[in-house]
Amino acid sequence: MIDGTLLPGCPIAWGMVGGGHNSQIGHVHRSAALRDHNFRLVAGAFDIDAARGRRFGEQLGVDVQRCYADYRAMFEAEAGRPDGIRAVSIATPNNTHFEICKAALLSGLHVVCEKPLCFTTAEAKELLELSLARNRMVGVAYGYAGHPLIAQAREMIARGELGDIRIVQMQFSHGFHSEAVEQSSPAARWRMDPAFAGPSYVLGDIGTHPLYLSQVMLPGLKIERLMCSRQSFVSSRAPLEDNAFTLMQYQGGAMGYLWACAVNSGSMHGHKLRVIGARASLEWWDEHPNQLRHEVQGQPAQVLDRGMGYLHPAALQEDRISAGHAEGLFEAWSNLYHRFALAMEATDRRDREALQTILHPDIHAGIEGVRWVENCVRSADAGGIWVDYC
Ligand code: NAD
Repeated sequence: MIDGTLLPGCPIAWGMVGGGHNSQIGHVHRSAALRDHNFRLVAGAFDIDAARGRRFGEQLGVDVQRCYADYRAMFEAEAGRPDGIRAVSIATPNNTHFEICKAALLSGLHVVCEKPLCFTTAEAKELLELSLARNRMVGVAYGYAGHPLIAQAREMIARGELGDIRIVQMQFSHGFHSEAVEQSSPAARWRMDPAFAGPSYVLGDIGTHPLYLSQVMLPGLKIERLMCSRQSFVSSRAPLEDNAFTLMQYQGGAMGYLWACAVNSGSMHGHKLRVIGARASLEWWDEHPNQLRHEVQGQPAQVLDRGMGYLHPAALQEDRISAGHAEGLFEAWSNLYHRFALAMEATDRRDREALQTILHPDIHAGIEGVRWVENCVRSADAGGIWVDYC
């Protein structure tokens, strides 16, 4: 159970790039990092507009001297302070992640970066090399992975409770962009502009979330080849897609399917995973994250609830309140930042063994997301053909 006990070496002096006033995800990062007091927000370059960012930083209680005009100024000034930041979170539009992440690593900072980590696997590998050379941790904000029942699914699958895995069905399929909302929403507009969003819209923006959850649940499953078809139902979004279907063949013969969609009219998140084995299936839905359906062929379906003693210990260690109470996205993200704090400490100690035991979306998860999008786009843009996964 997490009860607010400070982790060794914490609080970690922490800064943010982006996540300014009214940004979609900035407050989620702050509330997650600050929840257990393992991080202390002491600096920031919160906004593309320096004056607005400074005002916002002050409102957050950050010393005005440490509300910087841009990330370069922040990294340079903080490196010169005895109490300077040790870690930074990057919550800016996609096109900036690579440069900011690289600059942070070169300044000796641990990094939590929003997804996608960058645009190409070549860039992602450069960040990996740098993080290794500088011995710094890079975490990626796959926040849903912090829901305890994801760990339960991973344990049940590992123990063979479903039998051999045959099918993995994934979707993140919402309806919020069924119309051209980008005409009035700047946060939607950049997501559909390749200069800011990168080579994809829904594949990278939402598809990588269930993809990462599938990798947590099924660490042994490797994609052998895939086939992707992508469309822009709101035609002004072309060449970026607002809908994509991806079929995956895994090594060993299992099949996967991922539907990423922003035009699923009437749907809220529609973010679900169903893992189907030869004997039984598991199903998790992010709108009901405290429940995991377990369906054994020929038996009545069971619903497993978060916090209950019948769950695997790995699914209980991050509970914050007893069973029956609803935990949600804020708790999942707090769990993730708890793991990031542990991983930063283990990295500082060069404790590779401890690092292995902290299940967190690290730079390899970031690389995998970028790689998957690259392969999907390659398949889709060649006419929706099967491509070997590379
Ligand atoms: P947004 O447009 O709502 O906010 C972006 C913020 O970054 C703004 O405050 C803007 O002023 C600031 N900014 C832009 N460029 C900057 C720069 N160079 N320096 C400093 N600040 C800068 O965007 P958002 O929806 O919050 O998305 C931000 C990132 O988070 C994106 O990469 C997106 O994919 C990701 N995201 C992830 C999740 C998740 O579940 N992990 C959810 C939403 C968004």
